[in-house]
Amino acid sequence: MPAIILPDLPYKTDALAPVLSQETLEYHWGKHHRAYVDNLNKLLPPDNLQNLESLVQTAPPGPIFNNAGQIWNHNFYWQCLAAKGSAENICDLGPLHQAINTQFGSLDTFKAQFIEAAVKQFGSGWAWLVKDKITSRLTIETTANAETPLQKKDKIPLLTCDVWEHAYYIDYRNRRPDYLKAFWEIVNWAFILKNWKK
Ligand code: MN
Repeated sequence: MPAIILPDLPYKTDALAPVLSQETLEYHWGKHHRAYVDNLNKLLPPDNLQNLESLVQTAPPGPIFNNAGQIWNHNFYWQCLAAKGSAENICDLGPLHQAINTQFGSLDTFKAQFIEAAVKQFGSGWAWLVKDKITSRLTIETTANAETPLQKKDKIPLLTCDVWEHAYYIDYRNRRPDYLKAFWEIVNWAFILKNWKK
């Protein structure tokens, strides 16, 4: 049974333009993300009963982990985005705004620190805002390649940005900082708020 599926995007492929073009989504979701799903299904035994989260949390380093981690990270990434000016994008942060102020000083400082971490991530990887399950403390983290905060049982991911070159090269070429700067125009704050309330 093909246990792992490629979720549909929660919007049309042109919904995030011009920050992310239709061509970027067609390649990033339609080819890169899909390839991780196809690869994982070929790697899994026919009697696999593990779901995606379980595979990410239990697979040893290697191809199954790499593909499962990338699928989970991309599923999460697409949900972190929303069309500019949509209800999800302009959502009031409510009490999360205060939590960000407390941890980072201001929303602008948080964004600047997130961008800095994402730009400095060497090679391929991801930038994250995560919440500690015990202390509720917010931190910015980066992970390399397919690694993900889901591997740490004490962390709740709130937001991610994909900094693999395939995420931005069509629209921004080598200018990762420009991608990070524009990224905020299409962030799905409603999704982040929902994750923070968990
Ligand atoms: Mn990607």
